[in-house]
Order: sequence, then C-alpha cells, then structure tokens
Amino acid sequence: MTTGSCLCGAVRWRMESPYIRMTNCHCSMCRKAHGAPFATYIRVDKNRFELLSGAESITIYEASASFKRRFCSQCGSVTWIGGGAGVIGVAAGCLNEDPGIRSQQHIFTASKAPWHVIADTLPQADEFTPGTNRPVINRPGPATTEPGILHGSCLCGGVAFTAALPILAVYNCHCSRCRKARAAAHTTNGFVDPKGLHFLHGEDLLEQYKVPEAKFFTQAFCRVCGSGMPHRDMSRPRVGIPFGSLDTDPGQGASHHIYCDSKAPWFTITDDISQHAEGP
Ligand SMILES: [Zn+2]
Ligand SMILES: [Zn+2]
Ligand SMILES: [Zn+2]
Repeated sequence: MTTGSCLCGAVRWRMESPYIRMTNCHCSMCRKAHGAPFATYIRVDKNRFELLSGAESITIYEASASFKRRFCSQCGSVTWIGGGAGVIGVAAGCLNEDPGIRSQQHIFTASKAPWHVIADTLPQADEFTPGTNRPVINRPGPATTEPGILHGSCLCGGVAFTAALPILAVYNCHCSRCRKARAAAHTTNGFVDPKGLHFLHGEDLLEQYKVPEAKFFTQAFCRVCGSGMPHRDMSRPRVGIPFGSLDTDPGQGASHHIYCDSKAPWFTITDDISQHAEGP
C-alpha cells in the first residue's frame, strides 16, 4: 500500500501494488502542468486506487479529450490523470512512501525541454509508449518572443509572463515541498531579479498557497489548469521561474542538485551535475 497527498494535505489517496507501469513523460503538456522538466506517472488499475479525502478540493482541467488532469484547487499539486479505460496515472511526486516500482521508460522525448539532459539508459520513445493508440496533440509555440527575455505560460494559456535575463542560478530541487508542489521527481527552477518579471496577462488567475510552517515557501499556480507559475515577491531578492512553464529556451539548465538528502526514493540521479545534501 502506498499513500499520496497534495502539498496542502487536503487531497489524500492510497493505492495498492502491483502497478502497471511507471513512466517519465517529457511532453509539453506535462512539463507545463507540473512546471517541471518532466512528469513521472504510475499507471494503476482504478480498483487498486482509493481517494481518502479532498474530493471537493479537486479541479479537473481537460487538457485534451483523453487527459483529464486533476489538481488540488488549494495548493495546485497535480494529483492524477485519466489513463484510459479502468486505469489512472498517479503523479509519483505526491507519494508519501516508496511505491517499490521504478521508471521503465521516457516518453515524448521528441518534445523534451532543451535545457534538460536525460542521462540514464532507460528506453526512450519520441511520442507515446509504442503500441499506444492515442492521438498526439500538437500545441502551438509562443506567438512572439524577444531575445534576452524568457517567455513562459501555463497549460491553458490563461497566464503568460516574461522574465528578463540574466538567470542568477538554476537548481534541481529535491526537497519534499518542491516534489509535492510540482508533483514530480524534482523541480528545475531558474532564479531571476523579481523586477524583471512581468505578467503579460492572467495575473488575476494566479492562486497562491503558502506552506504554513514554512518561512517563504509559496506555490503559485493557475486556478484554471493548475500549472506552477512564478511567485513574485518584491521583498525577496530573487524569484524562481518554474522552467517547465517556459516557452523559450533559457540556454542553460540546472548547475546543482539541491536537498538531495530529501530525494524521492524512486528517483536516481544519473547525471554529473553537482549534488548537495541541502542548499547550495
Ligand atoms: Zn492541496
Ligand atoms: Zn506528458
Ligand atoms: Zn492556466
């Protein structure tokens, strides 16, 4: 038995092995929905999954006919998606224990973020797992971009922002809050001066969830689609941009893995980026 919960704890579930498959998805929709370099989903038979609390907190965003993405409307954590008949895909980043299964493949690597390197030797598929009979959805890129400026947006397109270079640092953070906030193995956040961050539209769609016991940790997300968005706090020297939300290539990826002591038990770091037990 493995339990899962969102960042705020309102949505809780449990599920029972055996699980069907664990997959890292690099498609642009998963990257935006999670605000992360990739999403990791465990496919589980619906009969082996039980929602324990929080049904009233779940918002469904229908990104496409076959993918209803569910997220917590209070904290923005992605929880699970429809995965075909009788099956759901549970976001591994929200699990509280080791599910005992490990990722078996990367899918949609043709859409992989240019700033993220896949360093392991798992099989890769350009699109869906071979043999999957589902339509591939082509999404448009950003309308206009300017050099020297990062462009980002949420999955539904309601929120769009720009951030001025330079990027001061880029970290892959493995802390338990980041993992739940992004419902992913880890975040990749790039930090910029908050004075250079501008919302082009949709700032009124942003929700914020501050972890009560945390000094600063605040998750900002689009209330329509749940995508992680930058949280602008002018009192702080830097603002973190969830790289998964980017529409343009920042030209650099993470230079440090941080909070590796809190790393998900089901995720193995295989690249040669420097690792830190806690902060850099
Ligand atoms: Zn929540
Ligand atoms: Zn995906
Ligand atoms: Zn949105």
